[in-house]
Amino acid sequence: MKIEIQDLSFKYDGNEVLKNIDLSIDEGTFLGLMGPNGSGKTTLLRTLMTYLKPDRGAILVDSKPVHTLGEREVARLLAVVPQSSPTHFNFTAYEMVMMGRIPHIRNRLAGESKSDGKIVRDAMQRTDTWKFAERTFSSLSGGERQRVIIARALAQHPEIMLLDEPTVYLDIASQFEIMDLLKSLNEDGLTIVAVLHDLNIASRYCNEIALLHNGKLESFGSPEKVFTSANIARIFGIEMIIRHDPLTHAVSAIPRTSSFMAASRETTVHVLCGGGTGGPVLNDLLDVGYSPSAGVVNVLDSDFETARDLRIPVVSEIPFSQISDDSHAENIELVESAKYVIVTDFPVGPGNLRNIEAALHAIERGKTVFILNRDTISERDFVGGRARDLVQRLIDGGAIPLRGRRELMQKLEGADGK
Ligand code: ADP
Repeated sequence: MKIEIQDLSFKYDGNEVLKNIDLSIDEGTFLGLMGPNGSGKTTLLRTLMTYLKPDRGAILVDSKPVHTLGEREVARLLAVVPQSSPTHFNFTAYEMVMMGRIPHIRNRLAGESKSDGKIVRDAMQRTDTWKFAERTFSSLSGGERQRVIIARALAQHPEIMLLDEPTVYLDIASQFEIMDLLKSLNEDGLTIVAVLHDLNIASRYCNEIALLHNGKLESFGSPEKVFTSANIARIFGIEMIIRHDPLTHAVSAIPRTSSFMAASRETTVHVLCGGGTGGPVLNDLLDVGYSPSAGVVNVLDSDFETARDLRIPVVSEIPFSQISDDSHAENIELVESAKYVIVTDFPVGPGNLRNIEAALHAIERGKTVFILNRDTISERDFVGGRARDLVQRLIDGGAIPLRGRRELMQKLEGADGK
C-alpha cells in the first residue's frame, strides 16, 4: 500500500515544524527518516501514526486519508514500534505480543480466539522470541524486548510498520540484529518507515531516505542520491567523506575532523605511497595543516580514493601497470616542489619501484626524506632485494627512518620548526 503525504504542514503553538511536505512512499519501501535533532522527524512520524492532526495537507494510505479513519482501521494499516516501552508492568512476552491482536478482536468480551494465538505464535517465531514467550517482558534484554515489540507490531498484521529510532538504546550486535530482522520483514513485503540516526546503518538497510531540515523535506531518494557530502555538510554541518563500503557496496560516510578546514601552513609534503598505506598519513598531514600531495598510485588503490576525496594533488597510474615515464616525471615534479618527502611502508613490486627511485631523487636534491617502518622492507620487497637495497641507499643518503605515524608527525613538526 502506498503512502502519499501531500502538502503536509503542522504547527506546535503557532510554530510551524513541518512545512509543505510532499512525499510518496511506495509499497515495499524501507524508508529512513533522517535529519538533525529538531528537524521534525518525530513530528512527521506522529502525524503518520495519526497521533497528531496536520494543520494543512493530507496523508493517504491506499488512497484513504488516514486522519478520517477510525482507530481500529488505522491499526490494521499501521503498526507502531516506539523508541522504548514501559517495563514496570508484569506482562509476559506472549501477553505483550497478544496486545497486537486487539484491533482485530471482534468480540472483546469473548477475548482472543485460537487463530489469534496462532498469529501471535507465528509473529514470535518470525522474530525469534517464541523461546521466551513465558518470560516477563521486563526480564528481557534491550534487544530481546525490541524484538518482542516488533512481534507485537507484526501480530497486528499491518501493511506498514513505523519505527522511532528502533536501535537507539541497543548495543552494536543487537542493532544489526534488529536491522537484519526489519530488512527480512521488508523483503517479505512489509513497508517500513523508520526514524534513524546512523547514516551508515541507513544506507546499508534502507532503499529510500527522506532527509528533513527545519521542518522541510530537503532531499529524497536512494542513499546514493541523498547522502552526498554537500547535502550532509549543508544539513548536518559536518564534513563527511562519502565512500562505498567494500563489503556491502552501501554508501559509507566517514567524518572528517574539525581541523579539516584549518588554514594550511603552506608547507608542501609529498607522500610516496600505495596499497592503502598513504591514506592515514595524508589525513594526519591535513589535520595539522600541511599541504600534502601523493604519488604514484594506481587508480584502484584506496590511497588514490583518499587523495581524491581529500582533494589532494595525486599522480595516478592505470590499474595493473608499471609507473610510466610520464607518471614518474609528474611524480618527480611534485617531489621537487615539496619541502619534505615521505616514503610510506608500501609493498614494492616491479610496478612501483620507481616510487623509491623518486625518493632517491629527493635525497640527491638535498630534501629531507622520512621513511616509515623501514624494518619491514624485506617483507615488502617483491623485487628480489632491490627495494631493500634502494631503501638502504636512502638511509645512507640521510633519509630519516621512523617507526610509525606518531613519530613521523613529531619529527616533521620538529623539522618544520613549529
Ligand atoms: P526531531 O524528531 O527531528 O528531533 P521533532 O519532530 O521532535 O524533531 O521536533 C521538531 C520541532 O518541534 C522542534 O523545534 C521541537 O522543539 C518542536 N516540538 C517537538 N515537540 C513539541 C511539543 N510537544 N510542543 C512544542 N514544540 C515541540
